[in-house]
Amino acid sequence: MAGRKALIVLAHSEKTSFNHAMAEVAASTLRAKGWDVTISDLYAMGFNPVLSQRDITGPPKNPEHFVYETEMGEAWKEGRLSSDIVAEQKKIEAADLIIFQFPLQWLGMPAILKGWFDRVIIQGFAYSVATIYEQGPFQKKKAMLSFTTSGMESTYSPKGINGDMNVFLWPMQRGMLQFCGFQVLAPQICYSVRYVTPEARAQMLSAWQKRLATIWEEKPLSIVPNSWFEMSMERGFVLKQEVLAQQEGKKQGLTVGQHLGKAFPPSQQLKAP
Ligand SMILES: Cc1cc2nc3c(=O)[nH]c(=O)nc-3n(C[C@H](O)[C@H](O)[C@H](O)COP(=O)(O)OP(=O)(O)OC[C@H]3O[C@@H](n4cnc5c(N)ncnc54)[C@H](O)[C@@H]3O)c2cc1C
Repeated sequence: MAGRKALIVLAHSEKTSFNHAMAEVAASTLRAKGWDVTISDLYAMGFNPVLSQRDITGPPKNPEHFVYETEMGEAWKEGRLSSDIVAEQKKIEAADLIIFQFPLQWLGMPAILKGWFDRVIIQGFAYSVATIYEQGPFQKKKAMLSFTTSGMESTYSPKGINGDMNVFLWPMQRGMLQFCGFQVLAPQICYSVRYVTPEARAQMLSAWQKRLATIWEEKPLSIVPNSWFEMSMERGFVLKQEVLAQQEGKKQGLTVGQHLGKAFPPSQQLKAP
């Protein structure tokens, strides 16, 4: 894959962690295949995840009532964002593929990574009212989540005590990545990493290495295209009547989010069709 660029955004504080091992495998495997790889190791960088008025330079447009996304959008247009944000945005612009490597925390991403999204993936740069989902600015890029859990895989099944993993993936994959246009590849999930055998962990790393060798050829997760929705403020960004009519009588909904009050399509957020 000579010429392709990957960014690995790593959110784990401990160098000897399994998450670091996963990031190292990703970097070395992709480099061996000719990729140019950059790593944003958020804890090592001391990345600041806290939103504040210091994220822009110069006076705010409305100092009486600082609306973060509006002020950030204006500052992005005018080149007045703080340098740590600009540095991360440049890495995203350069990347064809972004891998987010993290431990699942409270059924989501660690706060430091959420703060990276909050401060870096901002209005104007990553989305606008007119450019969302598959029309988003990152539509030519691929992105994926690679994460570890404490809970066993069975606990994240539709019958499991933690609940269906598809549900927890939806906000991150649909609400954050697909929202900005990214083609989202199926997640790489290492369940219960601390409690499995050393052989099982070695197997997880080698499965990851094998997958990475051909990652660019993978098809993304399915989405409901924007053209299926009424795309206007007046009509409300909901599925068109003709789409709803076609779905009548079907046992399953379209996606985890557009479930239409029916069962989710199984593994919709876990596997590409
Ligand atoms: C605030 C918080 C909230 C959490 N919420 C959740 C939650 O909602 N759901 C959930 O399931 N879990 C949750 N957890 C648990 C968390 O997801 C796990 O602790 C984490 O996923 C484990 O990954 P790790 O990289 O830290 O593992 P580590 O403990 O670093 O590693 C696991 C094992 O792998 C070994 N290892 C390291 N490198 C290698 C290598 N190269 N080859 C082979 N073995 C290696 C380590 O020595 C260790 O034995 C939470 C944790 C925290 C702190």
